Order: sequence, then C-alpha cells, then structure tokens
Amino acid sequence: MKLLENKIVLITGASRGIGKAIAQECANQGATVLFTYLSSEEKANALAAELSAAGVTAKGFRSDASNFNEAQKLVEDIVAEFGTIDVLVNNAGITRDTLLMRMTEEQWDEVINTNLKSAFNLTKAVQQPMLRARKGSIINMSSVVGVKGNAGQSNYAASKAGLIGFTKSIAAELGSRNIRCNAIAPGFIETEMTEVLDQTVVESWRKSIPLKRGGQPIDVANATVFLASDMSAYITGQTIHVCGGMLM
Ligand code: NAP
Repeated sequence: MKLLENKIVLITGASRGIGKAIAQECANQGATVLFTYLSSEEKANALAAELSAAGVTAKGFRSDASNFNEAQKLVEDIVAEFGTIDVLVNNAGITRDTLLMRMTEEQWDEVINTNLKSAFNLTKAVQQPMLRARKGSIINMSSVVGVKGNAGQSNYAASKAGLIGFTKSIAAELGSRNIRCNAIAPGFIETEMTEVLDQTVVESWRKSIPLKRGGQPIDVANATVFLASDMSAYITGQTIHVCGGMLM
C-alpha cells in the first residue's frame, strides 16, 4: 500500500521547484494531486499531463493564493468536483529581497500576502471540509530564514516566522478534530528561486552545510509526504528542518 492512497492533496504553487517535486512525489505515493499556479500556465499544464499520463488523477488550477476570494472559490470548486481535501500544502512563495533601507511598502506587502496571508486564506477555506471529514493534514512551507532571520530578507523572514506561529496555533485549535498542522523549514534548496543568487555566495553556502550540498526539491517532498501521510499521525504543531544540518 502506498503512503497516500485514497488521499486528495492540494498543493499551492506547484508549477515548478519544490511544489512540483511535492506534486510528483504525492502522485508516486498514490494521491489524487490538485495544485495551483499563478503565471506558469504551460509548466502547470505539462505537470498535469505528466501525472495524468502516469495514471494519476491530477488537475492544475490558476489561483492566486494571496487572494482570499480566489482561495475560497478554489476550495469550493475542488469540493464540488472531488468531494473533499485531505491534505493542504501551503507552498506558494516569493522573495523580494533588499535591505530595509531600500524596501518599498509594495515589496513588504507582496511577500507577506503571498507567503503568509495565503496560508490563512487556504487553511480557512479547507477547514470546513476537513472538519466534516474529522481528519486532515495541513503543511506550511516555512524556511530556516524564518527561524534565524537574514539580512536583506526582513519581509521574507517575517512571513516565514509568521507561518511557524500560525502552524502552532492551528495545531492547537484543530487537534481535537484530528486535523494536524505542521511546518517544514527548508534550508538552501536548489530551485529557480535560488538560481538568481550570486553563485560565489551559493558555493560558500554549500561548503558551510554539514552535508556539503544544497538540498534538492525531492528532499523537501519526502518530508512533505511523511507529514501528509498517516505515518505522522501523532505529530502536530512541529517544524521539521530540511536543511542538511545548516541550522541546528
Ligand atoms: P519557486 O521555484 O520560485 O516556485 C514558486 C511557486 O509558487 C511557483 O509554482 C509559483 O507559480 C508559485 N506562486 C508564486 N506566487 C503565487 C501565488 N500568489 N499564487 C499561487 N502560486 C504562486 O520557489 P521554490 O524554491 O520552489 O519555493 C517553494 C516554497 O519553498 C516557497 O514558499 C519558498 O519560500 C520555500 N522555500 C524555498 C527555499 C529554497 O531554497 N528554494 C528555502 C526555504 C523555503 P508560477 O510559476 O505560476 O509563478
């Protein structure tokens, strides 16, 4: 029996990077895979086609996770078509890195809305179907930066730290209904988000990580599958660091 058989999983921001790897791994583990994207329509269609060709029930939805009404509509549409949602992965995220001195209000708001408000939007929307089913697993994609802070990323660090507080609060609120909520804090994972970084800095990070490499999206996907599955049935309110020992 596969780990996610008979589970319906919704992942935000799965057209590329970590979200895509999560979608692929959830599919490998037998889940029905529903995912969102914002602008990468071609990539999203290609992923849905790839998963469908492998015999998986999969569907991509264009839905802005930072928009409250779009999140409500997305979940209503999914429940109408698929019946319920067993697992929500709040993965969509962006960076707008700059020092506070140069950071605009727009850069602050964009990051907080996409990374943090999105989790409120989607979690609030899936709460009803999960309460009805008396089960559910919600996984929020935080970051080691949310635990440790980082110069030039005050907006991003605040959003990711906020997700950890949100995770613990939802775990406390919904635990009695058998709905779990956990966070994952990836370290340096090599995706398009990190390709834009200065490569000398990237190389120095690799050297400073105890496991001596950047993480791959599959490393985060494996932790996500664990938290989505019944293997983690007694785990809630926790943050799992997937960072090669970068932060201990
Ligand atoms: P990525 O390659 O830039 O992919 C981001 C994904 O989020 C894309 O699918 C994008 O969709 C989607 N997205 C962005 N804004 C959205 C919105 N408003 N609504 C719906 N979807 C939206 O990023 P990644 O590296 O895979 O990161 C994924 C998550 O892990 C993020 O939350 C990030 O903060 C976190 N993380 C990453 C690292 C790392 O080292 N890479 C480390 C720690 C945490 P489109 O393609 O359509 O724009």
